[in-house]
Amino acid sequence: MPPRSGDERLAAITAQSAADRSPGTLTAADADQLAGIAADLRPAFGAGERILEVAAQLNHLLVRHGAVPNLHGDSDRPLVLAFHRTDSSLVDAWAADMGTALAMVIGVGQAARLGACQADKCCLVFFDTTRNASRRFCDLSCQNRAKATAYRARRRV
Ligand SMILES: [Zn+2]
Repeated sequence: MPPRSGDERLAAITAQSAADRSPGTLTAADADQLAGIAADLRPAFGAGERILEVAAQLNHLLVRHGAVPNLHGDSDRPLVLAFHRTDSSLVDAWAADMGTALAMVIGVGQAARLGACQADKCCLVFFDTTRNASRRFCDLSCQNRAKATAYRARRRV
């Protein structure tokens, strides 16, 4: 079950963050905002025929969060290409970087690789790395569950 409160969301984000990219000063309110951004980004996965509508919404998100290519670094750290200004809030920075990443996938004609698990009661999404972009499930347990459900449905007929 997805986290429901800001504190639960903050704990989930902290648990998933790599040690070298600690969310640092992220608050429960920030976590709530990030959950909203995740919901805004979710339609990009499995968009199919709705891709133009999804692209328009994604463009609005990029503007709203100040997405802009920007080189970050200094004399002690190598330059890296980010998609937010150095003075962006953490929420805007993550929104801009995540939105840009999805826009880049869509913009190179790979929108079909942004998949959504087709198993009942699963809300996970994935980047499909199969050769023919044919992946339907987030993992083997969802695939096996769906196969078992389909098998039982066929036996009932
Ligand atoms: Zn799944």
